[in-house]
Amino acid sequence: MGQRIDVGVLGATGMVGQQFIAQLANHPWFRLAWVGASQRSAARAYRDAVPWRLPVPMPDGVGDLVVEEARPGIAAPQLLFSAMDASVAGEIEEGFARAGHVVVSNARNHRMADDVPLLVPEINSEHIGLIEIQREARGWSGALVTNPNCSTVFLAMALAPLRAFGLKSVVVTTLQALSGAGYPGVASLDAVGNVIPFISGEEAKVESEPRKILGKFADGRVESHPVVLSASTTRVAVVNGHTESIAVSLQEAPTLDEVREALVTFTGPPQHLRLPSAPPQPIVYLQEENRPQPRLDAERDGGMTVSVGRLRKCPILGYKFFALGHNTVRGAAGAAVLNAELLVAEGVLSVPALGV
Ligand code: NAP
Repeated sequence: MGQRIDVGVLGATGMVGQQFIAQLANHPWFRLAWVGASQRSAARAYRDAVPWRLPVPMPDGVGDLVVEEARPGIAAPQLLFSAMDASVAGEIEEGFARAGHVVVSNARNHRMADDVPLLVPEINSEHIGLIEIQREARGWSGALVTNPNCSTVFLAMALAPLRAFGLKSVVVTTLQALSGAGYPGVASLDAVGNVIPFISGEEAKVESEPRKILGKFADGRVESHPVVLSASTTRVAVVNGHTESIAVSLQEAPTLDEVREALVTFTGPPQHLRLPSAPPQPIVYLQEENRPQPRLDAERDGGMTVSVGRLRKCPILGYKFFALGHNTVRGAAGAAVLNAELLVAEGVLSVPALGV
């Protein structure tokens, strides 16, 4: 691709917004041309509007961009990533889609709408067929596309290869990093040396989103997968990387080796299409008995790979293992950038530079 596509970030000043900016630096297809946030940040140079909180320098050129108010109707690129606070994302994202923008969102607001794709490109790229239904139903030329809750992405990825064995039920307990709560997030006196066994609204998302992601797209709708899920979500004193203890029951009785083989050979359109953000293998199986660990494994392949380990027999459900992923990369900004790459590769975005 010779000429890069201009893109913008709604909610560019927040934790996930900054991760978007880091993901987009030197992207071969996309050029960050526009940053939007609330009225509080508008009209200021980006470098003055944010306390930059990532452990990598702010990419060149971004600091000089002037933050615009994220308001539909404003001149902005056709492709917009959204990392807005969920309290405002719903209406603002719809407004931009109505104005003709393709909004690739990380917020929860539209994920479960019947006509909105909830994408994990390795699992359900065919769900982008919902965009046509959405445009017709809502009478807009833009589009809304979402990525799942951070814990859901890693869980869905680990479950997708197990559908072949007749996935019946899942019990999952998450150990979620502090960065998943945004900044400043959980107070240090609550977090340090502690485990908090409650994250508001999280269990409902982890129990419902995978069913849509793993579902089949046919006759213009997604039929949810029948798997039943039970989730317990906790916040732990880890900076980045959500760990999940997962137990599954299957209709068939594969050996542990067969299950492991299904996990490590799992692959999808991002790998076949060689999308720029696609990890070489979406799931890596770690043989060591004490892995995966967030400190050692969250950053694998730039944070885009799901690490799985400790696959063993479960006396109650049949099989159990751990999965781990980087919550602000594969669980948020990296997931959305991969979604946008899929939209470009599948011709959903009109890209004059490509003649489509
Ligand atoms: P955050 O740090 O609080 O950032 C929120 C962003 O929304 C800021 O850029 C803020 O701009 C903007 N905003 C707030 N009110 C606005 C308004 N009225 N109009 C336009 N922009 C407005 O939150 P975060 O942790 O980055 O999370 C962002 C979204 O991603 C949320 O929906 C969250 O649920 C989701 N998410 C987060 C994670 C994670 O790991 N953190 C993972 C998955 C999904 P100002 O700076 O101007 O206020």
